[in-house]
Amino acid sequence: MRVTTSELTPIPFNRTYVAENQHEYVLSAMHGKWASGYGRFNEQATDLIRKISGAEHAVLTTSGSTALDLAAFLVDVEPGDEVLVPSYTFVAVANVWAVRGAVPVFVDCRPDTLNIDEEAIEAAITSRTRAIVAMHYGGVACEMTRLVKIAERYDLALVEDNAHGFGASYHGRPLGTFGNLAALSFHASKNVQCGEGGGVMLPDAEIARRADIARENGTNRREFFRGQVDKYRWIEKGANYMLAELLAAQLTAQLEAFDEIQRQRHEVWRFYDEELADWAAANGVARPGVPDGCDHAAHLYYLLLPDLASREGMIAHLARHGVQAHFHYMPLHNSVAGLRFGRVAPDGCPVAESVSDRLIRLPLYAGLTEGERERVVRAVTGYRVR
Ligand SMILES: *Cc1c(COP(=O)(O)O)cnc(C)c1O
Repeated sequence: MRVTTSELTPIPFNRTYVAENQHEYVLSAMHGKWASGYGRFNEQATDLIRKISGAEHAVLTTSGSTALDLAAFLVDVEPGDEVLVPSYTFVAVANVWAVRGAVPVFVDCRPDTLNIDEEAIEAAITSRTRAIVAMHYGGVACEMTRLVKIAERYDLALVEDNAHGFGASYHGRPLGTFGNLAALSFHASKNVQCGEGGGVMLPDAEIARRADIARENGTNRREFFRGQVDKYRWIEKGANYMLAELLAAQLTAQLEAFDEIQRQRHEVWRFYDEELADWAAANGVARPGVPDGCDHAAHLYYLLLPDLASREGMIAHLARHGVQAHFHYMPLHNSVAGLRFGRVAPDGCPVAESVSDRLIRLPLYAGLTEGERERVVRAVTGYRVR
C-alpha cells in the first residue's frame, strides 16, 4: 500500500529533550530542604554554567528576559539615555531599556549572519548613548573584535545577549565573555532548558556582587546567608529573579548532558547544511553564514527564501509534507512599541525588514531521528521556488 504524506506523523518544530538524570533530580529537589533559590541544584547549575560558558561568575534568573532586565539594572541607565540594539531580535532586548525610560536605538543586521551590523553602529552613537547590546543570532558570534573596540572608544557598556550562543566561541574565546555581562536563556526553546529560566554571565567579583544584590530585591541577603553580615538590608534597586530549586534541578541534569545535546544538534545542523546546499543554490535560497573563527552553537537552522510569497509557500508545502517550520522576529524598529519608545539608527533597518519576510526555520533538536532529518530534507528539496 502506498503511504501518502498526510498519513505520516508530523515532525514537530521543537521537542523537549529529557536528560538522563532529570527525573531523579526533580524528585530530589521536591523533597529537599531548600525549595527556593539557595538549594544545592542552584549551586550545581551555576557551577556547570561557569564551566561550560567560561564565565568567571554567573547567577541564575527566572528567564532570559529577566536576565536582560538584571543586566539593565547593572548598566544603570537613566531616562533619556540611549542603548543601541539590533532590530532583528527578541523583544526583551529592547523592552528592558524602554521600561527604564531609556531609548532603544535600532540598528540593522548583516545579511550573512543576521547579527547587528558593526558598520552601522558608529553612525547611531550620540552623546546620550550608554550601551550596545550584541545578540549572537543562532549562536554565531557578532563581530566582537570590532564591537569591543567601539565600546571602548565611546566608553559604552557592552551587553551580550547570549541566549543562542551558550558554549559557542569567537576565535577561540567563549561568547558571553567579551562584554560587561551576558544574558543566557534556558527557555523550553533553547539548547539547554528548564521550561523557563535564565542566567547572567559576569566577568568579575565586583559586578557579581552587584548582581547578587539586584536579584534579591536590592538587598545583601546572599551575604547574610553566607554568614558575612548579621542582618540583611535594602541597599540598591532590584527585583526577585531567584530560580526555584525544582527548575534548577532540571537545569542541572540538562547541563550535565550538554555535550550530548550539542553533539546531536550539530549533527542535524551539518546534515541540513550539506544536504540542502545544491537545492539552495539552484533555487536562489541562502543558507546560514558562519564567518571564519566562529564556532557556533547549532541553536537553529534557517533558510532565506527570495521573498515573502516563496517563504509562505514553503511553510505551507512543508506542512503538507508533515514538517512544522516556523519563522520569527518581526523587526522591532517598526513595531508599535518600537516606534513609540525607540528610534531607528540613521541608516534604517532595510536588511532586518527583508530578512524578516524571507526567513524560515527548520526543526532542529536533540532527539530528531535520522529518519526525520531525511524526511525534512526530502520535503524541503521537493519545493520549487518560482
Ligand atoms: C529566548 C531569548 C531570550 C530570552 O527569552 P526568555 O523566554 O525570557 O527566556 C532573549 N533573547 C533572545 C535572542 C532569545 O532568543
